[in-house]
Amino acid sequence: MSDGCSGERGLVIGCYNTGNAANVYSALSPAEREARAVAQGVKIHGEKYRTELANSFSIAWHRTPYLEGGWTSPPYTSPGYRLLQQPAGRVYFAGDWLSHSVAWQHGAFLSVRATVTALHQRVMAG
Ligand SMILES: Cc1cc2nc3c(=O)[nH]c(=O)nc-3n(C[C@H](O)[C@H](O)[C@H](O)COP(=O)(O)OP(=O)(O)OC[C@H]3O[C@@H](n4cnc5c(N)ncnc54)[C@H](O)[C@@H]3O)c2cc1C
Repeated sequence: MSDGCSGERGLVIGCYNTGNAANVYSALSPAEREARAVAQGVKIHGEKYRTELANSFSIAWHRTPYLEGGWTSPPYTSPGYRLLQQPAGRVYFAGDWLSHSVAWQHGAFLSVRATVTALHQRVMAG
């Protein structure tokens, strides 16, 4: 999220992309991504977009171990999806991807609340 935009210093999301555009950026080093994103931003905001940049950070979600993507679209009605919503013995799964609000923190909260509720009921049942 962009933050502190009216302050002395702030944070700006300079590039948020998906699909082929994301693949182009993810193939670059972080320094190369910065250079490419700044070159695009300068076209809109002028040279200050380059000269006032203090630092940058970028991440390629599909190249992040264990995540391998920014988000997913599970087949909500599939047996596998329903199975993952059930505990496997003492192991419970939770995450936005197990909710019906994938790619939102709202979904993560819904899922973890369901898991904690299930644990609570299990403990109270003795
Ligand atoms: C680019 C982007 C922008 C987003 N913007 C918004 C937004 O504006 N608003 C919003 O509400 N939501 C947004 N989201 C979605 C939000 O970030 C997620 O819904 C939320 O973080 C999901 O929380 P979670 O706890 O389910 O999973 P995560 O936050 O993904 O946490 C899962 C954790 O488990 C770890 N993990 C995975 N496998 C293993 C393993 N085998 N062993 C140990 N650790 C493991 C992972 O490293 C990770 O830290 C955005 C997501 C992305 C990618």
